[in-house]
Formats: sequence, C-alpha cells, structure tokens
Amino acid sequence: MKESLARLLDLQNIDLEIDALGRSRVEFPTEISRLEEKLDLSRKDVEGKRKQSEDLETNRRLMEGELEAIQEDLKKHQDRLYEVKTNREYDALQHEIEALKNRMDENETGILEGIELGDGLKERLEEEEATFKELESESLATIKDLKKRLGSVEDNVKEWEEKRAVVEIQIEPRALSAYNRIRKLIKTGVAVVQVEKSSCGGCFRQLPPQLRVEVRRQDQIIRCENCGRIVVWKDEDAD
Ligand SMILES: [Zn+2]
Repeated sequence: MKESLARLLDLQNIDLEIDALGRSRVEFPTEISRLEEKLDLSRKDVEGKRKQSEDLETNRRLMEGELEAIQEDLKKHQDRLYEVKTNREYDALQHEIEALKNRMDENETGILEGIELGDGLKERLEEEEATFKELESESLATIKDLKKRLGSVEDNVKEWEEKRAVVEIQIEPRALSAYNRIRKLIKTGVAVVQVEKSSCGGCFRQLPPQLRVEVRRQDQIIRCENCGRIVVWKDEDAD
C-alpha cells in the first residue's frame, strides 16, 4: 500500500495536467474570439474616423469650388453695374449682389469650420491609428501563440495519458477506486494531499494524533475527517 499511496500523488499530478489541457481546449478558443472581436471593433472605429475625415475633406473641396463660382458670378454682376440704364435695374442688381455676398460669407465660414474640424479629427485619427497598430501587433502575436498551443493540446494529452497508464498499473485497485471516487467530488481535482505541519494539506485542518499515526504507517487509505481527501505521509516531514 505504501507504494500505491506514493504513486497516487504522481497520478494526480498527471491528471491535473490533463485537466488543464482540457480547460485550454475551451479557454483558448474563447480567448482567441475575444481578442479577434476587440481588434475588429477597434479597426472599425478607426476606419469610421478615417471615412469621416475623408468626407470632411471632400466636402471642403466642394465648398471651395462653389466659392469660386460665386466669386465669378459676383464679379459679373458687379461689372454689369456700369451697364444698367435705370434705377430699377440698378436696385435689382444691387439686391442680387448682396445675396451673392451673403452666400460667399456663408461659404467661407463653412470652409473655415471644415478646416478646423478636419485638423482636430486628423490629429485624433493619427493617435488612434498608432494605438490600433500596437494593439493589432500584440493581439495577432497572442492569437498566433494560442493557436499554436491549441494545436499541440491533443499531442500533449496523448503524452500524459501514456505516462498515466504506466503509473496507474502500479497502484492497488482499492486505492485507485478511492482516488477516482473522491476526485469526482472535489472541484479542484485534488483528491490526494500530503500531511503539512501535522495538518491536512488540502483543508489545513489539524489532524488528530491517532490519525497522524495511521497516516504515517502508510498501510491503509486514510481520509481527512474534515474534507474527505486522502492524506498521505510526506517522508521528509519532521512530524
Ligand atoms: Zn482536509
């Protein structure tokens, strides 16, 4: 039994490795999706701002074109002032000139506002593009690493299962079935613990002296009265 109890700890270490690999099968793809989604959102945000900046620029050019046309029109109207023959014609022309001047003012204001808005946006866009590039390279590297590790999970599980088979046959069926039963009940999967400073290494409750003596004899399966784990003796323990 002494040998079986010692091997139980080895078996448990292997099972914990296999458990962790099993978890990574679920956790890695989740983490990969999370990173990809975050990156996608960030990319869309930057693209949206870039589009906004381009639209502003296009709009500004349109307004500049319009301004030129208005200025030409205004000049033609002003030239005609010298050709009119009646006061009525003159007044009508003046009225049109006023209207053109107003449009010109509005247009110039619009262009200036567009430039101001565009400059601010461009500055923020540059910052965000730099931040995005950083996030992108970091995320892509992490995703690549996770995918690589995920790809080797199956091989790793196989390796550990081979090691497990070698250890398992060295354990008495009684000890093995107790271990399997308890392991199913304990969330962390730690069913076998060593005595640590006269206490159970699982729940850290002090073990009664009689129980400690029995654990030390290493000739039967002893369970912690508090947490139910199998308690085994640690030879180097100076208890
Ligand atoms: Zn315990």
